[in-house]
Formats: sequence, structure tokens, C-alpha cells
Amino acid sequence: MDQLDYYSDRKFCADCNTYVPYLMSVDRSYCAQCGQPVRLFSREDWATFNDQMAERKASKGGRPRRDKKESA
Ligand SMILES: [Zn+2]
Repeated sequence: MDQLDYYSDRKFCADCNTYVPYLMSVDRSYCAQCGQPVRLFSREDWATFNDQMAERKASKGGRPRRDKKESA
């Protein structure tokens, strides 16, 4: 969760192959280092992100998980 801040002001530049500070344009963002368009996540992180979203969706429809505390 601590990484959220990191991702929020950096994006992935495929050219630099790392997360970089970026410049915001109207509908795109550009690497502050090399000027190439950047994306929110690297491909690997994007897959991870999608997995997490899928999990969140899957658990959203159901009831919140509870530990077995009901019987005391
Ligand atoms: Zn770059």
C-alpha cells in the first residue's frame, strides 16, 4: 500500500525501462527524462494490477470476509 504514493506521481517509461517523473499533457503523459509517452504501469505491474482488481471485483459482490468469531 505504501507504493501507491510512488505510483501516483511516477509512471512507467518503456524507453527508460523504469518509473520516471512525468509531464502531463491533455490526454497523455510524457517521460520527463526522455520525452517518450509513459504509461501508468509496466507490463508486469499492469498484470498485477488487473489481478488485484479482479480479486476486488470478485469479493465485492459477496459478503465481507469475517474470521470465525461468531461462536464464543
Ligand atoms: Zn523515458
